[in-house]
Amino acid sequence: MEDHGSTYLQLFVDETTFYNRIVLGSLLPSSVWDPLPHFLQTWLRNYIGGVLVYFLSGFLWCFYIYYWKRNVYVPQDAIPSYKSMLLQIYVTMKAMPCYSALPAVSEYMVENGWTKCFSRISDVGWLAYLVYLVNYLVVAEFGIYWMHRELHDIKPLYKYLHATHHIYNKQNTLSPFAGLAFHPLDGILQAVPHVIALFLVPTHFLTHILLLFLEAIWTANIHDCIHANLWPVMGAGYHTIHHTTYRHNYGHYTIWMDWLFGTLRDPLDDEPKKVM
Ligand SMILES: [Zn+2]
Ligand SMILES: [Zn+2]
Repeated sequence: MEDHGSTYLQLFVDETTFYNRIVLGSLLPSSVWDPLPHFLQTWLRNYIGGVLVYFLSGFLWCFYIYYWKRNVYVPQDAIPSYKSMLLQIYVTMKAMPCYSALPAVSEYMVENGWTKCFSRISDVGWLAYLVYLVNYLVVAEFGIYWMHRELHDIKPLYKYLHATHHIYNKQNTLSPFAGLAFHPLDGILQAVPHVIALFLVPTHFLTHILLLFLEAIWTANIHDCIHANLWPVMGAGYHTIHHTTYRHNYGHYTIWMDWLFGTLRDPLDDEPKKVM
């Protein structure tokens, strides 16, 4: 994006201020958040947003697959115990304040003009917007694949960070609440490709924020152990294999990176009937 100087950057500041006001203003008394510096308001807004998205998607998804559609997607004996879900919620809640720092920092960088972000889709037009979005997603897919793979391959990283997420390795302990149950640093590292993309690809600012939050919904979904078989989506069937072999399916939204780098394992190949 060409530099319009500080008037253009003011658009980002106005935008984040607006989001802060909507979220914080409707949930907290203004005496609590108004005196905070802008950066902390942004962090708090992302924290509250993250907690809300995590619990809403987690509860709705659990209600749907374990209660409403009982025995349809998940056999009775494979429903995770309350204890394992509570542990996953506990691990997530401990990490959430750290996770929220990532969008707070990325928004800070955007507001200061360090990235290639643009504020309005009309600044580039719809066609360019879509082309940039595809590029952003490719960077994210590539980055998240390799970040996740290195978190396994570099042994100290696995031992001290990523192992926290892999204590849930059986079908009846994995649940949608495991989606964000990471060591705080692990969760941040796996989201860093989203921030790197801002420096490589012109990105619509709000789309970036929404894509970060979409991660919370997506990751709840891929931990429900229900294999949807929707090519080329790397859904829960694939991710369950990741949790049992540790050597396959490091990928993110799609199977393409695992296919490209030779780590793909199809749920239908080795276990024709696991869940359904
Ligand atoms: Zn892993
Ligand atoms: Zn996982």
